[in-house]
Amino acid sequence: MRELVYLNGWVGSFDDAFISVNDRGFNFGDGVYEVVRVYGGIPFAMGDHLERLEFSATAIKMEMPWSKEQLEMFTMDLLDKSKIKEAMVYLQVSRGTAHRNHTFSPDIKPNLLITVRHVPEISPSMYREGVKIISQPEFRWQMCHVKSISLLASVLAKQRAADAGAAEAVFVMDDGTVTECSASNIFIYKDDALFTHPADNRILKGVTRKYVLEIARGLGIAIKVEPFSFSDMLGAAEVFFTSTIVEIMPVVKADHHIIGNGKPGQLAGRIHDAFTSLRHTGI
Ligand code: PMP
Repeated sequence: MRELVYLNGWVGSFDDAFISVNDRGFNFGDGVYEVVRVYGGIPFAMGDHLERLEFSATAIKMEMPWSKEQLEMFTMDLLDKSKIKEAMVYLQVSRGTAHRNHTFSPDIKPNLLITVRHVPEISPSMYREGVKIISQPEFRWQMCHVKSISLLASVLAKQRAADAGAAEAVFVMDDGTVTECSASNIFIYKDDALFTHPADNRILKGVTRKYVLEIARGLGIAIKVEPFSFSDMLGAAEVFFTSTIVEIMPVVKADHHIIGNGKPGQLAGRIHDAFTSLRHTGI
Protein backbone atom coordinates (compact mmCIF):
# COMPACT_ATOMS: atom_id res chain seq x y z
CA MET A 1 0.00 0.00 0.00
CA ARG A 2 1.31 3.45 -0.78
CA GLU A 3 -0.02 6.97 -0.99
CA LEU A 4 0.10 8.21 -4.58
CA VAL A 5 -0.20 11.32 -6.69
CA TYR A 6 -1.56 11.75 -10.21
CA LEU A 7 -0.45 15.06 -11.74
CA ASN A 8 -1.44 15.81 -15.34
CA GLY A 9 -0.95 12.18 -16.35
CA TRP A 10 2.20 11.57 -14.29
CA VAL A 11 1.91 9.08 -11.39
CA GLY A 12 4.32 8.86 -8.45
CA SER A 13 4.98 9.66 -4.82
CA PHE A 14 4.16 12.91 -2.99
CA ASP A 15 7.88 13.71 -2.64
CA ASP A 16 8.45 13.50 -6.37
CA ALA A 17 5.43 15.50 -7.55
CA PHE A 18 6.12 19.09 -8.62
CA ILE A 19 4.11 21.89 -10.15
CA SER A 20 5.13 25.25 -11.60
CA VAL A 21 5.35 28.32 -9.35
CA ASN A 22 3.20 29.89 -12.07
CA ASP A 23 0.32 27.54 -11.27
CA ARG A 24 -2.73 29.75 -10.67
CA GLY A 25 -3.82 27.53 -7.83
CA PHE A 26 -0.52 28.32 -6.09
CA ASN A 27 -0.64 32.05 -6.86
CA PHE A 28 -4.33 32.88 -6.56
CA GLY A 29 -6.08 29.89 -5.02
CA ASP A 30 -7.71 29.79 -8.47
CA GLY A 31 -9.19 26.32 -8.64
CA VAL A 32 -11.76 23.87 -7.35
CA TYR A 33 -11.59 20.49 -5.67
CA GLU A 34 -13.41 17.49 -4.24
CA VAL A 35 -12.76 14.99 -1.47
CA VAL A 36 -14.08 11.46 -1.89
CA ARG A 37 -14.09 8.76 0.79
CA VAL A 38 -13.26 5.23 -0.34
CA TYR A 39 -14.64 2.36 1.75
CA GLY A 40 -13.18 -1.11 1.13
CA GLY A 41 -11.87 0.04 -2.25
CA ILE A 42 -15.24 1.48 -3.34
CA PRO A 43 -15.58 5.28 -3.69
CA PHE A 44 -18.70 6.59 -1.95
CA ALA A 45 -20.98 8.92 -3.94
CA MET A 46 -18.41 9.43 -6.71
CA GLY A 47 -21.16 10.62 -9.06
CA ASP A 48 -22.25 13.34 -6.60
CA HIS A 49 -18.67 14.54 -6.15
CA LEU A 50 -17.88 14.66 -9.87
CA GLU A 51 -21.10 16.52 -10.52
CA ARG A 52 -20.22 19.08 -7.84
CA LEU A 53 -16.70 19.42 -9.28
CA GLU A 54 -18.20 20.28 -12.69
CA PHE A 55 -20.63 22.67 -11.01
CA SER A 56 -17.79 24.44 -9.16
CA ALA A 57 -15.66 24.66 -12.31
CA THR A 58 -18.53 26.17 -14.29
CA ALA A 59 -19.23 28.66 -11.46
CA ILE A 60 -15.66 30.02 -11.73
CA LYS A 61 -15.78 30.03 -15.55
CA MET A 62 -13.28 27.21 -15.90
CA GLU A 63 -13.70 24.64 -18.62
CA MET A 64 -12.42 21.22 -17.63
CA PRO A 65 -11.08 19.21 -20.58
CA TRP A 66 -11.96 15.88 -18.93
CA SER A 67 -15.31 14.11 -18.80
CA LYS A 68 -16.63 12.75 -15.50
CA GLU A 69 -15.95 9.27 -16.86
CA GLN A 70 -12.30 10.13 -17.51
CA LEU A 71 -11.89 11.65 -14.05
CA GLU A 72 -13.39 8.49 -12.54
CA MET A 73 -11.07 6.33 -14.63
CA PHE A 74 -7.94 8.25 -13.54
CA THR A 75 -9.10 7.96 -9.92
CA MET A 76 -9.86 4.24 -10.06
CA ASP A 77 -6.52 3.58 -11.74
CA LEU A 78 -4.66 5.51 -9.02
CA LEU A 79 -6.59 3.72 -6.28
CA ASP A 80 -5.77 0.41 -7.87
CA LYS A 81 -2.05 1.26 -8.02
CA SER A 82 -2.02 2.50 -4.40
CA LYS A 83 -3.77 -0.64 -3.07
CA ILE A 84 -5.22 1.50 -0.26
CA LYS A 85 -8.74 0.30 0.53
CA GLU A 86 -9.72 2.85 3.20
CA ALA A 87 -8.74 5.93 1.30
CA MET A 88 -9.29 9.64 0.99
CA VAL A 89 -9.12 10.88 -2.59
CA TYR A 90 -8.61 14.56 -3.46
CA LEU A 91 -9.35 15.74 -6.98
CA GLN A 92 -8.02 19.25 -7.43
CA VAL A 93 -8.18 21.29 -10.60
CA SER A 94 -6.41 24.63 -10.87
CA ARG A 95 -7.05 26.96 -13.78
CA GLY A 96 -3.60 26.18 -15.10
CA THR A 97 -0.11 27.57 -15.47
CA ALA A 98 0.35 31.13 -16.77
CA HIS A 99 2.44 34.22 -16.06
CA ARG A 100 1.11 35.94 -12.99
CA ASN A 101 -1.85 38.13 -13.89
CA HIS A 102 -5.23 38.28 -12.20
CA THR A 103 -7.09 38.00 -15.49
CA PHE A 104 -7.04 34.71 -17.34
CA SER A 105 -7.19 33.58 -20.92
CA PRO A 106 -9.72 30.89 -21.84
CA ASP A 107 -6.86 28.98 -23.54
CA ILE A 108 -5.05 28.00 -20.34
CA LYS A 109 -5.08 24.26 -19.77
CA PRO A 110 -6.16 23.33 -16.23
CA ASN A 111 -3.80 21.35 -14.01
CA LEU A 112 -5.29 18.15 -12.61
CA LEU A 113 -4.04 16.74 -9.33
CA ILE A 114 -5.47 13.56 -7.83
CA THR A 115 -4.13 12.17 -4.57
CA VAL A 116 -4.86 8.92 -2.74
CA ARG A 117 -4.12 8.88 0.97
CA HIS A 118 -4.92 6.86 4.05
CA VAL A 119 -7.95 8.16 5.93
CA PRO A 120 -6.91 10.16 9.00
CA GLU A 121 -7.63 8.49 12.34
CA ILE A 122 -10.68 9.97 14.07
CA SER A 123 -10.94 8.87 17.66
CA PRO A 124 -14.08 6.72 18.27
CA SER A 125 -14.46 8.56 21.59
CA MET A 126 -15.40 11.71 19.66
CA TYR A 127 -18.47 9.96 18.25
CA ARG A 128 -19.22 8.29 21.58
CA GLU A 129 -18.89 11.39 23.74
CA GLY A 130 -19.56 14.21 21.28
CA VAL A 131 -17.38 17.23 20.59
CA LYS A 132 -17.15 20.93 21.31
CA ILE A 133 -17.45 23.63 18.64
CA ILE A 134 -16.82 27.37 18.77
CA SER A 135 -18.73 30.18 17.07
CA GLN A 136 -16.94 32.28 14.49
CA PRO A 137 -18.30 35.46 12.85
CA GLU A 138 -19.10 34.61 9.21
CA PHE A 139 -16.32 36.31 7.30
CA ARG A 140 -16.24 34.28 4.09
CA TRP A 141 -17.17 35.39 0.58
CA GLN A 142 -20.60 35.06 -1.04
CA MET A 143 -19.79 32.01 -3.16
CA CYS A 144 -19.59 29.31 -0.50
CA HIS A 145 -21.56 26.98 -2.82
CA VAL A 146 -18.33 26.67 -4.86
CA LYS A 147 -15.83 24.16 -3.53
CA SER A 148 -12.91 26.50 -4.08
CA ILE A 149 -9.30 25.80 -3.14
CA SER A 150 -9.15 29.37 -1.70
CA LEU A 151 -9.56 28.12 1.86
CA LEU A 152 -7.92 30.84 3.94
CA ALA A 153 -11.07 31.75 5.89
CA SER A 154 -11.68 28.08 6.71
CA VAL A 155 -8.03 27.60 7.64
CA LEU A 156 -8.13 30.51 10.11
CA ALA A 157 -11.48 29.43 11.57
CA LYS A 158 -10.41 25.81 12.01
CA GLN A 159 -7.14 26.89 13.61
CA ARG A 160 -9.05 29.09 16.08
CA ALA A 161 -11.18 26.04 16.91
CA ALA A 162 -8.13 23.81 17.37
CA ASP A 163 -6.45 26.43 19.59
CA ALA A 164 -9.60 26.49 21.73
CA GLY A 165 -9.62 22.69 22.01
CA ALA A 166 -12.70 22.46 19.77
CA ALA A 167 -13.40 20.16 16.84
CA GLU A 168 -15.01 22.73 14.55
CA ALA A 169 -15.83 26.40 14.14
CA VAL A 170 -19.40 27.26 13.20
CA PHE A 171 -19.99 30.41 11.13
CA VAL A 172 -22.58 32.83 12.49
CA MET A 173 -23.77 35.81 10.44
CA ASP A 174 -24.32 39.30 11.92
CA ASP A 175 -28.06 38.61 12.32
CA GLY A 176 -27.33 35.41 14.29
CA THR A 177 -27.97 32.97 11.43
CA VAL A 178 -25.85 29.83 11.47
CA THR A 179 -24.58 28.87 8.02
CA GLU A 180 -22.17 25.92 8.26
CA CYS A 181 -18.82 24.99 9.80
CA SER A 182 -15.28 25.54 8.49
CA ALA A 183 -15.27 22.13 6.75
CA SER A 184 -18.71 20.63 7.37
CA ASN A 185 -22.45 21.25 7.29
CA ILE A 186 -24.40 21.62 10.51
CA PHE A 187 -27.80 20.32 11.64
CA ILE A 188 -29.92 20.94 14.72
CA TYR A 189 -32.81 18.83 16.03
CA LYS A 190 -35.30 21.07 17.76
CA ASP A 191 -39.05 20.86 18.43
CA ASP A 192 -39.13 17.41 16.76
CA ALA A 193 -37.73 18.71 13.47
CA LEU A 194 -34.31 18.53 11.83
CA PHE A 195 -33.06 21.92 10.60
CA THR A 196 -30.22 22.71 8.24
CA HIS A 197 -29.39 25.84 6.24
CA PRO A 198 -30.76 25.92 2.66
CA ALA A 199 -28.25 25.07 -0.07
CA ASP A 200 -27.80 28.63 -1.34
CA ASN A 201 -24.60 30.66 -1.87
CA ARG A 202 -23.94 30.73 1.90
CA ILE A 203 -22.99 27.06 2.22
CA LEU A 204 -21.44 24.17 0.38
CA LYS A 205 -24.13 21.71 -0.69
CA GLY A 206 -22.57 18.80 1.15
CA VAL A 207 -22.78 15.30 -0.25
CA THR A 208 -23.06 13.88 3.28
CA ARG A 209 -25.80 16.47 3.98
CA LYS A 210 -27.75 15.08 1.03
CA TYR A 211 -27.62 11.50 2.34
CA VAL A 212 -28.35 12.60 5.92
CA LEU A 213 -31.49 14.38 4.71
CA GLU A 214 -32.55 11.27 2.75
CA ILE A 215 -31.97 9.03 5.76
CA ALA A 216 -33.85 11.37 8.12
CA ARG A 217 -36.79 11.53 5.70
CA GLY A 218 -36.79 7.74 5.58
CA LEU A 219 -36.92 7.66 9.37
CA GLY A 220 -40.03 9.86 9.25
CA ILE A 221 -38.31 12.87 10.79
CA ALA A 222 -39.77 16.29 9.95
CA ILE A 223 -37.19 18.21 7.91
CA LYS A 224 -36.84 21.98 7.83
CA VAL A 225 -34.31 23.16 5.28
CA GLU A 226 -34.36 26.72 6.56
CA PRO A 227 -32.05 29.11 8.38
CA PHE A 228 -31.79 28.86 12.16
CA SER A 229 -29.99 31.05 14.66
CA PHE A 230 -27.12 30.43 17.04
CA SER A 231 -29.54 30.78 19.96
CA ASP A 232 -31.86 28.19 18.30
CA MET A 233 -28.81 25.96 18.22
CA LEU A 234 -28.05 26.46 21.89
CA GLY A 235 -31.65 25.50 22.73
CA ALA A 236 -31.66 22.43 20.46
CA ALA A 237 -32.07 18.87 21.71
CA GLU A 238 -29.27 17.75 19.36
CA VAL A 239 -26.62 19.28 17.15
CA PHE A 240 -24.34 17.47 14.71
CA PHE A 241 -22.08 18.30 11.78
CA THR A 242 -21.45 16.28 8.65
CA SER A 243 -18.69 15.81 6.09
CA THR A 244 -17.23 13.20 3.79
CA ILE A 245 -14.39 12.28 6.12
CA VAL A 246 -16.03 12.82 9.52
CA GLU A 247 -19.48 11.51 8.42
CA ILE A 248 -21.83 12.47 11.30
CA MET A 249 -20.32 14.06 14.42
CA PRO A 250 -22.44 14.86 17.50
CA VAL A 251 -21.86 18.24 19.17
CA VAL A 252 -22.34 18.52 22.92
CA LYS A 253 -20.91 21.96 23.59
CA ALA A 254 -20.90 25.26 21.67
CA ASP A 255 -18.65 27.96 23.14
CA HIS A 256 -19.46 27.62 26.86
CA HIS A 257 -22.99 26.27 26.41
CA ILE A 258 -23.97 22.65 26.89
CA ILE A 259 -26.23 21.25 24.15
CA GLY A 260 -29.19 19.11 25.26
CA ASN A 261 -28.14 16.91 28.16
CA GLY A 262 -24.46 17.19 27.24
CA LYS A 263 -24.44 13.75 25.60
CA PRO A 264 -24.65 12.77 21.92
CA GLY A 265 -28.27 12.58 20.80
CA GLN A 266 -30.18 9.49 19.72
CA LEU A 267 -31.10 10.85 16.31
CA ALA A 268 -27.46 11.51 15.34
CA GLY A 269 -26.68 7.92 16.30
CA ARG A 270 -29.60 6.48 14.31
CA ILE A 271 -28.66 8.52 11.25
CA HIS A 272 -25.02 7.51 11.56
CA ASP A 273 -25.99 3.82 11.81
CA ALA A 274 -28.08 4.11 8.64
CA PHE A 275 -25.23 5.98 6.91
CA THR A 276 -22.81 3.21 7.88
CA SER A 277 -24.92 0.68 6.01
CA LEU A 278 -24.76 2.86 2.86
CA ARG A 279 -20.96 3.08 2.87
CA HIS A 280 -20.17 0.02 0.77
CA THR A 281 -23.07 0.33 -1.65
CA GLY A 282 -21.00 2.31 -4.17
CA ILE A 283 -23.78 4.90 -4.51
N1 PMP B 1 -19.01 22.73 4.04
C1 PMP B 1 -17.71 22.99 3.86
C2 PMP B 1 -17.23 24.41 3.92
C3 PMP B 1 -16.81 21.94 3.60
O1 PMP B 1 -15.50 22.20 3.40
C4 PMP B 1 -17.29 20.61 3.59
C5 PMP B 1 -16.34 19.47 3.39
N2 PMP B 1 -16.03 19.27 2.07
C6 PMP B 1 -18.66 20.39 3.79
C7 PMP B 1 -19.49 21.47 4.01
C8 PMP B 1 -19.23 19.00 3.76
O2 PMP B 1 -19.34 18.54 2.44
P1 PMP B 1 -19.26 16.99 2.09
O3 PMP B 1 -20.31 16.31 2.92
O4 PMP B 1 -19.57 16.95 0.63
O5 PMP B 1 -17.89 16.53 2.42
